[in-house]
Amino acid sequence: MSCKHSASCYYYLKNRDSDAKKHRLLLESYCHGGTLAPLCRRRTFLSFFKMEPPDDLAPNGYLVESHRKIRMENCREHTRHKVTDCICLLQVVDTAKTFDAWMVDISEGGVQLALNTHPEVLKIGAENDQIKILGYSAESLPIPLDREILRVAWQNEQTLGCAFMAPQAL
Ligand code: SF4
Repeated sequence: MSCKHSASCYYYLKNRDSDAKKHRLLLESYCHGGTLAPLCRRRTFLSFFKMEPPDDLAPNGYLVESHRKIRMENCREHTRHKVTDCICLLQVVDTAKTFDAWMVDISEGGVQLALNTHPEVLKIGAENDQIKILGYSAESLPIPLDREILRVAWQNEQTLGCAFMAPQAL
């Protein structure tokens, strides 16, 4: 299944008919439902900055025709506040799967989570990228947690960067 952003994605529209091997591999791995789809840096950019990514940003985070890479982990729009000793109980939305994760930090835009299980095991992916916060152990947090649905913006092994979803987007 193709990525839901493909109809408006500059990279996809420009390269979907390309014969170049590198583009075919990227399209297969990210845009056509491949295993790397949740890691697409264009989606991450869109999610974090609420604006279209640069035209030359490829889904793997490299700028096309260069070896320069944008590190999304360092591109958060809001100030992060470190969180200690807070474990969260979470659920993959629209599934019965629950899991726990440590909250690493929180900002006005979202949270960073360190999972005890690999996201692949939980089948968190392009079509399944929303997480519900069922509860958390901290008595107080640097920023009140008043939104319960998150969307995965980026993944690095068992660490997830998640953006709060606006209530009207549910
Ligand atoms: S996976 Fe990324 S590059 Fe591919 S269509 Fe979706 S947003 Fe565009």
